[in-house]
Amino acid sequence: MVMRYRVREIANWANGSTLLGLLAAGLGGATLRRGPNGLLLAHGYQLAIPPRRSRAFTVGNVVLCRLSDTELAEHPTLLTHEARHATQYAWCVGLLMLPMYFVAAGWSWVRTGDYASRNVFERLAGLADGGYVERPSRVAQRRAAQREAAAAAGRADR
Ligand SMILES: [Zn+2]
Repeated sequence: MVMRYRVREIANWANGSTLLGLLAAGLGGATLRRGPNGLLLAHGYQLAIPPRRSRAFTVGNVVLCRLSDTELAEHPTLLTHEARHATQYAWCVGLLMLPMYFVAAGWSWVRTGDYASRNVFERLAGLADGGYVERPSRVAQRRAAQREAAAAAGRADR
């Protein structure tokens, strides 16, 4: 294993985030197996938290996944995205990441109406790799809707 992944694995064990990930996997009825670069893949996670639109989420070095192996193989960048979150846990000294992530998600929601588009953690992990479509700011969305309405009114006048 490359040294930086070994360091990430040790850091996330030491800061407790991998332990919390294993607890979530156990509570969610997931089956664990070793993944690449020191990650642990927890398949078959059943709980409704976070909301079911999340196909996967990461706590420490544990990637909790709602997809089957086949579905995961169809989304090869998803694991890359989740692995970047594992690295973020190491940089954030583990569980400190959770409140910072929620603040970033709230900021994104205020700006765009979406929890990922302006969330620094999701942006650094790669929005497209995680299956997210970047939404414009609410101001830009409002302007686009006004332009559309004006164009529709113009068509109606003819
Ligand atoms: Zn993500």
